Amino acid sequence: MELRILGAHDLESKNTHPTCLLIDGRLLIDAGGLASSLTLSQQQEIRAVLLTHHHLDHTRDLPTLGFNVILWQGQVTIYALPQTFDIIVPCLLDGRIYVDLLKNPTLVLKGAMCSQNILPTEEKPPLKLCEIEPYEKETIAGYEVLPLPVNHSVPSVGYLVTSLAGGSLFYTGDTGPGLNDCWHHINPKLIIIEATAPSRFTEELALRGHLSPQSLKEELSQFKQLKGYLPRVIVIHRALPYEQQIKEEIDQVAIELDADIGLGYEGMTISV
Ligand SMILES: [Zn+2]
Ligand SMILES: [Zn+2]
Repeated sequence: MELRILGAHDLESKNTHPTCLLIDGRLLIDAGGLASSLTLSQQQEIRAVLLTHHHLDHTRDLPTLGFNVILWQGQVTIYALPQTFDIIVPCLLDGRIYVDLLKNPTLVLKGAMCSQNILPTEEKPPLKLCEIEPYEKETIAGYEVLPLPVNHSVPSVGYLVTSLAGGSLFYTGDTGPGLNDCWHHINPKLIIIEATAPSRFTEELALRGHLSPQSLKEELSQFKQLKGYLPRVIVIHRALPYEQQIKEEIDQVAIELDADIGLGYEGMTISV
């Protein structure tokens, strides 16, 4: 399984994108920095999107993807908690802010596009929604996917993704402290986790459902104690203004835990 990090931050700028991970070119987790990272033909390979929660830095490119999917008359299935759909459908997908991506695309392709003879003929919407249930394994795009609840300011899950070849990764999404329940359910070869700001903000980050390098260290220590090992750990969802300080603090955590812990960057690929 090959993981490509498309977005490793919590904001968009010239060289950074919000959180977005791509597995083997076809399974996307979160849709923060998707469209500006992939060509149209690469976007055409995407079969499914797993959403951790509804916040805009994790969902903002869904309307763009859906609109592009209309071009090749395809369909992408979006997997998320019902509470996530309750927010993103009226805010992003049902036609109020952009085109209606949940209806037959013949209803939304008009004007210039019709004259180019690319009007879809199939009766299928560009985006299909599928609710997930925490702790329920599902096969999605050829992978075994296990959603596990995490502590964030809104209903959120992390995902354990396992390939047929045995590669596995766990991505927490946005999370505050309290991952011990997740740790009981997983034995991944890679953990993708967040550290939003430096450790001097640990307390207020916890209140907002985020981690600092200090609280991340406590969570990973618990994993190591429980499982007897610590896999490679990649840290994303960093606030750009604190990039250097977060890096220094994460480097220190890696030394203290004697583990392979480093930052993820846009464009980085990792074989799992
Ligand atoms: Zn969030
Ligand atoms: Zn976020």
